[in-house]
Amino acid sequence: MSTNLLSLDEAGLASLVKELGQPAFRAKQIHNWLYDKGASDLEEMTNLPKALRDALAEAASIGSLTQVVEQQSADGTRKRLYRLHDGQLIETVVMPYADGRRTACISSQAGCAMGCVFCATGQMGFQRQLTETEIFEQAWRTAAELKARGERLSNVVMMGMGEPFHNYDAAVGAVRRMMRDLGIGARHITISTVGLVPAIRRFADEGLQVGLAISLHAASDETRSALLPVNRKYPLEELIDACKAYVERTGRRITFEWALIAGQNDSAQEAHRLGRLLSGLLCHVNLIPLNPTARYEGQPTEEADVATFVEVLGRHGVPATVRMRRGIDIDAGCGQLRDRMVDEQD
Ligand code: SAH
Ligand code: SF4
Repeated sequence: MSTNLLSLDEAGLASLVKELGQPAFRAKQIHNWLYDKGASDLEEMTNLPKALRDALAEAASIGSLTQVVEQQSADGTRKRLYRLHDGQLIETVVMPYADGRRTACISSQAGCAMGCVFCATGQMGFQRQLTETEIFEQAWRTAAELKARGERLSNVVMMGMGEPFHNYDAAVGAVRRMMRDLGIGARHITISTVGLVPAIRRFADEGLQVGLAISLHAASDETRSALLPVNRKYPLEELIDACKAYVERTGRRITFEWALIAGQNDSAQEAHRLGRLLSGLLCHVNLIPLNPTARYEGQPTEEADVATFVEVLGRHGVPATVRMRRGIDIDAGCGQLRDRMVDEQD
């Protein structure tokens, strides 16, 4: 297999050009083309001698993801399905916002082992870990494509397929590369986790200003374990303890994600329970009406009940906002596009 240039740092590029009999400054030029200019083709690298471009074309490639389909939603959300070198399929979503922000939602694994019942990725099971480069490449490609349109990738959320803290080193390594090579500020990157307690504690010690989101979805162990099997291993008390330690250590606010599912976790009583659980913690709750999926019968909460939920949380002093569902017409929910493409191939 040829060398993927995106997997090499500047020192790695330097040894590659040396092997090809070229001076070290060529590495800097290639680095500049890849990351400052977002070049996806060696032929674009016009200040490299043709002989070097030809030699590189023999020995190396730029990236390993192949786009299978792209869908565009009425709200501007674009979703891509990528094939990895071994045929695995992953998704990347790009969301434009009216204030100019451009957010990429990227995947950390092919499939997911956590089995959350309402999640299309969880329903497909675990396929394999993504490498650091495969995670990074999703952001790199998005940044390059936006740049070509005169736009800039401003934010990245690791909320696509997979559980980033079940692939900790690759996920955190990819985040560092987005900061270094794509110039995305740590504060504009968010990692979302289902709540792997040891990883949350480890992440608190990284010294990164990266945002942390926790998928909570229920405020009692009984309900949470039924929706998120991982809760049996890391029950609420341990999870909230780790969140408190994280806030203390980093001084950063935590975001709690809550998919509102009619009749499951959307009652005023559940809101009170959540309010009591989070009261006094530096946090914010993101409420998202459930995106229905093929293998789960749950439905999104009615608007009036959403409003009551927000109001009850407010009484506990817990700030909450209802997140717009983006790209709902193109299955932009986690894992849903892959799910449908695979179903159609069956
Ligand atoms: N594995 C990580 C990140 C990927 S999922 C995590 O679970 O946090 C990103 C977010 O989408 C999570 O909050 C997840 O719970 C939520 N999600 C998954 N399926 C959903 C659905 N059908 N409707 C609404 N939110 C969903
Ligand atoms: Fe995995 Fe997150 Fe989906 Fe749960 S919600 S199955 S952790 S991707």
